Amino acid sequence: MQTKIILPDSEIPKQWYNIMADMPNKPAPPLHPATKQPVGPDDLSPIFPMALIEQEVSDQRWIDIPEDVLKIYTLWRPSPMYRAHRLEEALGTPAKIYYKYEGVSPAGSHKPNTSVPQAYYNKQAGVKRIATETGAGQWGSAMALAGSLFGIDVTVYMVKVSYNQKPYRRIAMETWGAEVFASPTDKTEAGRKILEADPDNPGSLGIAISEAVEDAATHSDTNYALGSVLNHVLLHQTVIGLEAKKQMELIGDYPDVIVGCCGGGSNLAGLSFPFLQDKINGKQLRVIAVEPASCPTLTKGEFRYDFGDTAGLTPLLMMYTLGHDFVPPGIHAGGLRYHADAPLVCQLYHDGLIEAKAYPQTAVFEAALQFARSEGIIPAPESSHAVKAAIDEALRCKEEGKEETILFNLSGHGYLDLQAYADYLEGKLVDYEYPEEKIKEALSRLPQI
Ligand SMILES: *Cc1c(COP(=O)(O)O)cnc(C)c1O
Repeated sequence: MQTKIILPDSEIPKQWYNIMADMPNKPAPPLHPATKQPVGPDDLSPIFPMALIEQEVSDQRWIDIPEDVLKIYTLWRPSPMYRAHRLEEALGTPAKIYYKYEGVSPAGSHKPNTSVPQAYYNKQAGVKRIATETGAGQWGSAMALAGSLFGIDVTVYMVKVSYNQKPYRRIAMETWGAEVFASPTDKTEAGRKILEADPDNPGSLGIAISEAVEDAATHSDTNYALGSVLNHVLLHQTVIGLEAKKQMELIGDYPDVIVGCCGGGSNLAGLSFPFLQDKINGKQLRVIAVEPASCPTLTKGEFRYDFGDTAGLTPLLMMYTLGHDFVPPGIHAGGLRYHADAPLVCQLYHDGLIEAKAYPQTAVFEAALQFARSEGIIPAPESSHAVKAAIDEALRCKEEGKEETILFNLSGHGYLDLQAYADYLEGKLVDYEYPEEKIKEALSRLPQI
């Protein structure tokens, strides 16, 4: 009975997979926020290195992973795949459940798979400092780690409420040498404006993005980095699925269903895109994106152009969106509280290649506890959405008497999110109504294209 499916270091993929080469319909181009014309490389070069801009627009199927990035990947890659024997038994399902575990990275999630190449390409371009934003701290800590590995300074604008309430990831960022500010700060025009109007403003991801982008745009030695949504981020994450394919092959299996939680879409894309290539070529396979019922981007959003940030500074992207100024309820899965999803994921969903499901958080935590009590690992609240959907698929198989193979992405561990578990165990966790009115309002403020 095999539990862990392990690959040697030599089996780390040498190239990333670019799904753009195989999509039946390419995503619509990003538009300049002012002119509404497609953005060119020159629009992006003040804040991104050219190598990443090229990856952003590339339709080349395979893109080489630089040697220096591969060397760092060996610190935690290949990541293990597990067969969830004990969970299967607890559920009494004939289905086989596998999970790919990305919590083994130093930052505890899949995010270093992209922060490391992003730091690498910036270093190559002579950039001295990266400015970025973070909510609860997962992306900020992945970027801080990558900066320390390549000798690049990292400045993190961390949403003020999280800075005060969730100190552990901030301490991790500082341990890796990053400078962390509680946003809004008095260091940027955007921050000062907000503080002038409201000195006690608790901050938001949208504000923090505006501050980090302004910091990068106004310093010639500084660039900006984003942890999800963009094409190059999803590209880097495909190491997950490419390894998973080899691991499945090693054990002589192939997934009928692939599940990933979806905040911006990067971990879902990372695991599923290499398999979706097979689906596009005729293979039977379902891919499920799982989102919170209180921020139901794919299941309830509209497919249209919207800004990536609250202030409307970023290019307009073609996405399923709830409106760029929609503020989702304060659920514990902070990484899933984004108003839209990656254009690549949205196009594939629109074309019926990906399905979507939404769950309220108490159901998600119930699944997380069942997982922790059978498999041991305490999952991140975000990843627990995938756990819940995988369990439901396994129970469907039980009902239908089907021996399907289910593969999900355990995108991170929850050891820095234990307050969320405390709240659940103490019965303090509540489900939020689907905020229909607020979403309708936010959608009414979308730019007309
Ligand atoms: C950030 C994060 C997510 C959500 O981001 P995606 O881009 O949708 O992957 C999911 N899981 C964990 C553990 C995260 O840190």
